[in-house]
Amino acid sequence: MKFSDFNFEPELMEGLSSMNFEKPTPIQELSIPIISAGKDIIGCAQTGTGKTAAFLLPVINKIIKEHKHVVNTLIIVPTRELAVQIDEAMQGFGYFTPVTAIAIFGGKDGISFEQEKKALTQGANIIIATPGRLIAHLNMGYVKFDSIEHLILDEADRMLDMGFSDDLNKIISFLPKQRQTIMFSATMAPKIRELAKKILNNPEQVNIAVSKPAAGVLQGAYLVYNTQKMALLKSLLTGKNLSSILIFSSTKDKVKELERDLLRSKFNIAAIHSDLEQDQRTEVLRQFKNKNIQMLVATDVLSRGIDIDSIGLVINYDVPRDAEDYIHRVGRTARAETTGVALTLINPEDMRKFKSIEDLIGDEIKKLPLPPQLGEGPAYEPNKKFERPQGRGGKPAFRKKR
Ligand code: ADP
Ligand code: MG
Repeated sequence: MKFSDFNFEPELMEGLSSMNFEKPTPIQELSIPIISAGKDIIGCAQTGTGKTAAFLLPVINKIIKEHKHVVNTLIIVPTRELAVQIDEAMQGFGYFTPVTAIAIFGGKDGISFEQEKKALTQGANIIIATPGRLIAHLNMGYVKFDSIEHLILDEADRMLDMGFSDDLNKIISFLPKQRQTIMFSATMAPKIRELAKKILNNPEQVNIAVSKPAAGVLQGAYLVYNTQKMALLKSLLTGKNLSSILIFSSTKDKVKELERDLLRSKFNIAAIHSDLEQDQRTEVLRQFKNKNIQMLVATDVLSRGIDIDSIGLVINYDVPRDAEDYIHRVGRTARAETTGVALTLINPEDMRKFKSIEDLIGDEIKKLPLPPQLGEGPAYEPNKKFERPQGRGGKPAFRKKR
């Protein structure tokens, strides 16, 4: 199948070819005809499968055909980074078209708030917004959404994880009941089905969620004691002339600690976590994309949706909390069918969790030998139980270190 099979307008085809898009990906092949036909849809496919174009292209095509200076499409996304990324894709696809778009997200200055207000009131065709910032505009009373024909929720699962459920309901209350609703998600958790039932009207379902990392990823794991982790990480990073390396850790405090430690060892590294201001996050990402920064340490905030090309190596410094997160983290590498390497450090406490990841992807991930200077690591004993001190209600009691 080719993009020309969709009967897109010539201006849109030109944008596609300028971006070197030749063949639709499977999720695009399945979703575009449904969206073009005006039906509601819930699409589920893992990170890196091309969901952005799956919803943008048919919508842009419709707007070209009936071009008016009104708001036509609202895209709601969980993070500022994703809003920027979709806006960039939009600028690429829409370059030769009259379709206008604006990204609306928090953390900018008063001038941009005014620009957003102008775009909202003068009818930018496509609004890409994070929930909080959009509600700030809605509360001011000047936003008229009567002309909206399409509502798109991207990364719906992440939005619910981030607690945007009430915000979504509020935003939807401003929209016409008669509309096409398009929902994309990387996972099909029960709460996603619930949301879909509530806001979609007799939707078609498209599901390409094979719970497996992209085929090009070489995966490996190291069994380590906590005391060996840092030394192993440094030895893995040393002498790598890969341009882009992404390291994940579970909490922002650990991310900061890793950054400090690796900077002290003179690695070209930066960190991204929720304590940074928006400007700082954008700048760090820009430097990483430009390859001025070789390595980035991040929490899971970054692991979904953010599209950075050619990440050659992903390191999970900790085993992710749930198996889906593993797939998303590993999905950062080998985007669009190139190859990449994903390595995970597993301490004894995390072995059980890691086993559940292996079960989900239906494959055993190769355990690699430690560099000899680190000494022996633990054996793989995923069924071993770890005693946790029990607090009230059976929850683990955590003692603060002094
Ligand atoms: P997802 O939202 O599913 O995580 P994206 O839409 O961000 O995936 O796409 C991942 C990457 O693949 C992007 O760099 C995008 O430009 C590229 N891509 C998507 N579809 C195609 C295609 N049909 N041809 C070439 N590249 C594509
Ligand atoms: Mg996406």
